[in-house]
Amino acid sequence: QETIDKIAAGEVIERPSSVVKELVENSIDAGATAVTVEIKEGGISLIRITDNGSGIEKEQVSLAFLRHSTSKIRSVEDLLSVSSLGFRGEALSSISAVAQVELITKTVSDITGIRYVIEGSIEKEKEEIGAPDGTTFLVKNLFYNTPARKKFLKTPQTEAGYISALVERLALSHPDISFKLIVNNQTKLHTSGNSNPKDVIYQIYGRDITSSLIELNAKTDLFEVSGFIGKPVISRGNRNFENYFINERYIKSSLIAKSIEDAYKNFLMQHQYPFCVLYFTFDGKLLDVNVHPTKMELRFSENEGIYQTLYDCIHEKLLHRDH
Ligand code: ADP
Ligand code: MG
Repeated sequence: QETIDKIAAGEVIERPSSVVKELVENSIDAGATAVTVEIKEGGISLIRITDNGSGIEKEQVSLAFLRHSTSKIRSVEDLLSVSSLGFRGEALSSISAVAQVELITKTVSDITGIRYVIEGSIEKEKEEIGAPDGTTFLVKNLFYNTPARKKFLKTPQTEAGYISALVERLALSHPDISFKLIVNNQTKLHTSGNSNPKDVIYQIYGRDITSSLIELNAKTDLFEVSGFIGKPVISRGNRNFENYFINERYIKSSLIAKSIEDAYKNFLMQHQYPFCVLYFTFDGKLLDVNVHPTKMELRFSENEGIYQTLYDCIHEKLLHRDH
């Protein structure tokens, strides 16, 4: 069982940011309105995720760490349309196979909480303790028992950079949740959770970007889109400042990127890549569900139409922007 878990972990948990992604997605699924991510040494020595979500029932705690145990029922077709982010019941078993994990959790209806320690898939401690409502995961010494995997990690600064980028995307895709990121005891990001995406953009990118944004709101035959577009502050551009969320997921799509870039070309002057934070809603029928769900590059079934419709939306908006 341990070996199987270790192998399975290789597919789900590649680096510290994978741990953060899985745990924060669980917090979101648990209905949290506030999530704190704390890391040390790029998340390699320590990751702590605290949420104020539902908590885990006492009897479910050990079970949650078994492979393929999930409290979330869903089908493959649902993946891109349902709101639940988890789908395999593999995250906790994988993380606990390759790290030292401590969990403290309490549901609203329970008076006491549970503290649970599991290391390399082996249960170490389980005790009742006083705890606030919600869940805290402490993940220490990632890959301590798989040195070959540990060797593939980048420097702590680079790993911390991946985690920052991830938490920023999570905050942008969930403006209704307050996210806090603490790196080596320093608060790097704290979003308000007041549901206004523009506030999250301000909290991440600052005033220069936020002040030049154009708001987009459109409903077409193929999709709905809302959000903001603008010029990046730095001239040396890349697609890192293009953020799209499709049905609430952060997704890469060269089709969508190209359409926005082409529409923006005449307005960008020396810049090649626009800044944008755009939220799309697509009918599931237009999305290719055969793409592996953890892959972030998405394919569509009506490429031409989507490209042109989005191009027109943005072109129109830029032509008639008030200046
Ligand atoms: P999945 O998310 O696919 O169900 P995971 O291995 O990520 O599988 O989690 C296993 C189970 O543990 C979840 O289905 C959920 O019931 C529970 N769980 C994990 N994290 C949390 C959390 N932060 N709050 C509440 N329940 C959680
Ligand atoms: Mg999960």
